[in-house]
Amino acid sequence: MHIETADQAQLKSAEATLSARYAELQARGLSLDMTRGKPSPDQLSLSDAMESILNGNFKADDGTDLRNYGGLDGITEAKDLFAQILEVPTDNVLIGGNASLTLMYQSALYAMHFGLNGAESAWHNKAAATPVRFICPVPGYDRHFAICDHLGIEMLTVPMTDTGPDMDAVEALIDSDPSIRGIWAVPRFSNPTGVVYSDETVDRFAQLGKRAHSEFRIFWDNAYAVHTLNADAPQLKSIWAACEAEGTLDSVLIFGSTSKVTYAGAGVAFMGASTANLKALRHHLSFSTIGPDKVNMKRHTNFLRDMPTYLAHMEKHAALLRPRFNKVNDVLTAELGDDGYAQWHLPQGGYFISLDTKPGLAQTVVDMAAAAGVKLTPAGATFPYGKDPANSNLRIAPSFPSVADLETATEVLAVCVKLATVRQKLNG
Ligand code: PLP
Repeated sequence: MHIETADQAQLKSAEATLSARYAELQARGLSLDMTRGKPSPDQLSLSDAMESILNGNFKADDGTDLRNYGGLDGITEAKDLFAQILEVPTDNVLIGGNASLTLMYQSALYAMHFGLNGAESAWHNKAAATPVRFICPVPGYDRHFAICDHLGIEMLTVPMTDTGPDMDAVEALIDSDPSIRGIWAVPRFSNPTGVVYSDETVDRFAQLGKRAHSEFRIFWDNAYAVHTLNADAPQLKSIWAACEAEGTLDSVLIFGSTSKVTYAGAGVAFMGASTANLKALRHHLSFSTIGPDKVNMKRHTNFLRDMPTYLAHMEKHAALLRPRFNKVNDVLTAELGDDGYAQWHLPQGGYFISLDTKPGLAQTVVDMAAAAGVKLTPAGATFPYGKDPANSNLRIAPSFPSVADLETATEVLAVCVKLATVRQKLNG
């Protein structure tokens, strides 16, 4: 039955069947959680060899004692390794603590209050007293939006397409609003849609620095740079190379981490930036730390070593993640098929599946699933201020639950989507 062409009798009969199925699922007393975009314990265990890998050798390659203070922007071997993930020169890398989110937050905070190009360049220029605005492609990552909210940055949305953010809309906003100081981007396996930006999108991002305010910065969060599910997943064009070609290197800050490579709570975060940006960032950073955890950096460089070793390790993650993503997709396909209830697609990497219900139904589906013991990410979470104007986007996180739990949880989700859609149709 296709939902768009179903007649009243078909809808009524579907409602009765689905209500019975929903009641049966509710009676099972389930307690399942699809909210957590975090690695499973099996994935974390892939990196347990790191614990003993230093074996008492606390020296960096240049002889530095890793246990002591110092090394504000990280050890050279870590810069060499993570430069390859960021696709920037080693000299343009800064290694942080365990979370790239912290580096993003600090970069935005410094740009806001102190400026990346002298005090006059601070976004929060009291003399000018204009709002500070960011462009937020939606659906997107809730914690990016939370950073803006926390720093008092107003958020303007543009829709995501299959090739990245709608760049016509991005350019139109930048051309018409001089208060825009930044844009969020998750360019490979974006959170939550799984899109990989096309080469044209990357090139158009690289050109933004020419039409935007001089203090405009792209927050290029390449969190899933090497997090592929399949060997033939689409590649991402280097933003650094594209900006270099355009002469706009100062317009981009590139972020990454090993949170979903080694340990989500004890990985290494890194960023790439132009020489001028990096100089300002190091300066501001120096007031808050004497240096990051170099011991953990060395554990990581000994463990991940070089790109072939790094990518072979990622393939082990993919082997654990693939069956989970496939299970969610298989159940959704079997339950929802092409019957017009919802739209989703199986990504080639990253950590999420994004599903769009008919407008107006996401919150209902979340509530119905909760009442049947399945916790979903709150409706609206993928939009600034937690408000999805269409009330239709749901973010599914398949990495943490077992395949068996995912099967049941996705069945509950699908039944809720169908029942909510049929009821919406019946009620007019
Ligand atoms: N960026 C994106 C797009 C994410 O999805 C996540 C985690 O889900 C993060 C950043 C968090 O990264 P980190 O653990 O390095 O702070």
